[in-house]
Formats: sequence, C-alpha cells, structure tokens
Amino acid sequence: MANFKTHLSLSATAGIAATGIAITLQLITYTHAPWFIFLVVVGGMLPDIDANNSKPVQLLFSLLAILSMFVVLHVLNQQYASHLLLMMAAGSYVLVRYGVSALFNRFTEHRGVFHSLLAALFFAFQVTCISFYFLHWNVVDAWLNGVFIAIGFIVHLLLDEIYSVDLSNSRMKKSFGTAMKLWNYHNFMASALMLTCTMGLYWLTPSPLPLIKMSKAALLSNHAIVRRYLNPV
Ligand SMILES: [Zn+2]
Repeated sequence: MANFKTHLSLSATAGIAATGIAITLQLITYTHAPWFIFLVVVGGMLPDIDANNSKPVQLLFSLLAILSMFVVLHVLNQQYASHLLLMMAAGSYVLVRYGVSALFNRFTEHRGVFHSLLAALFFAFQVTCISFYFLHWNVVDAWLNGVFIAIGFIVHLLLDEIYSVDLSNSRMKKSFGTAMKLWNYHNFMASALMLTCTMGLYWLTPSPLPLIKMSKAALLSNHAIVRRYLNPV
C-alpha cells in the first residue's frame, strides 16, 4: 500500500495533467485550474476514508467538514440571519468532522467497499449532484467536478495495486487484488447497499450529454488542428 505522501504527490501530478488536458480542450479556463487540481487531490484521498483514525483520514474529514460548511453557507445564504447561518455552518462542520467520521470508523472495514471502482462512481455522482442542485453550477461544470473526483480516486486505486506487486523479485504481495476491485467481493450487503445508492445518485444526476457533446467537439477540433499541423498543404 502506497503511503500518504506518495498518494498526495501522485494525485497532485495527475490533477495537473488532467487539468492541462481540460484546458487544452477548452473545457475549463486557467482561472479554474487550482479548483480542479484540488478536486483530484481530494479524490486521491477518498478511498482510504475507511482506514483507521490515522492522520490522513483525520485531515480528509477536516477537509470534507470545511466543504460541508461552505455548502451550508452557500445554500442557506439568503434564508437565515447571519448569526443563525454561522451556527448552522459550525454545526455541519462538527457533524461531518466528528459524527460522520465516527460512524465511518464504526461501520466500515479498511479496503472494503469504499476502496473500489463502484465507490469512485458513488463519489463522482454525489459531487455532481451537490454541485448541480445545491451549488447551482451548470451541467457541464457539475459533471466536470464529479469526473475530476473520480480521476483522483482511480489514480489512488491504481497506485495501491501497483504497490502490491513486488517489483524487485516480480511476485505478488498478499494485498494484490484488494486495492483495485469493482466492489467488495467479501461483503455482499455492503456492496449491494453501495450499488443501490450509486444507482439512485446516477438517476438524480442531470444528463451528462452537454459535457459529452462539448468533449467530442473539442476532441474533433483539436484533432483537426493537429492534422493540419502535421500535414500542412
Ligand atoms: Zn488505499
């Protein structure tokens, strides 16, 4: 299993690469780059959310708690007096940082269902829904938020799997196959619950067609530019 520092630096590198590609395809602008790199880094920390109460996990829950505070401030901004709003934001911080984190510790096993490709989809759809319905981002940006979380998540799973191969004498460590899995093969209930939630979230997400159309158009025009460059007439 790769350590926290390795995950952090690789997800930051993947974030920079993915953001660079998205800028080239004109899906995002330079000003949004730090946000999308940040999302890949958060995605890269998420699979170990079910690890024991280690420092990185505490840091992750602090980050999620801060994000939840911003969501509360943004969503309820117009509806409550500022002192009530601040109290609710503080409440959501405490709830996520201590309540949700304690629940996770209590009910999850490390490298269980949260360390799987199914969980990558679960978090991607969740972030897309929050961005679209609560933060009122447009469809394309809401989906991009979800996609960038998924990129970080998958990079983490890949890295853990690579670490389970002992490259020096090319044999598999015991952990081989536990990092990059579709779902938790040993816990049917947890996997079924995660699948139901993921399908429910997908049903709630706005149609991804605008992002797919935009990406297709960007890929085609970039392809044309590259071809023109390679075969000048
Ligand atoms: Zn991991």
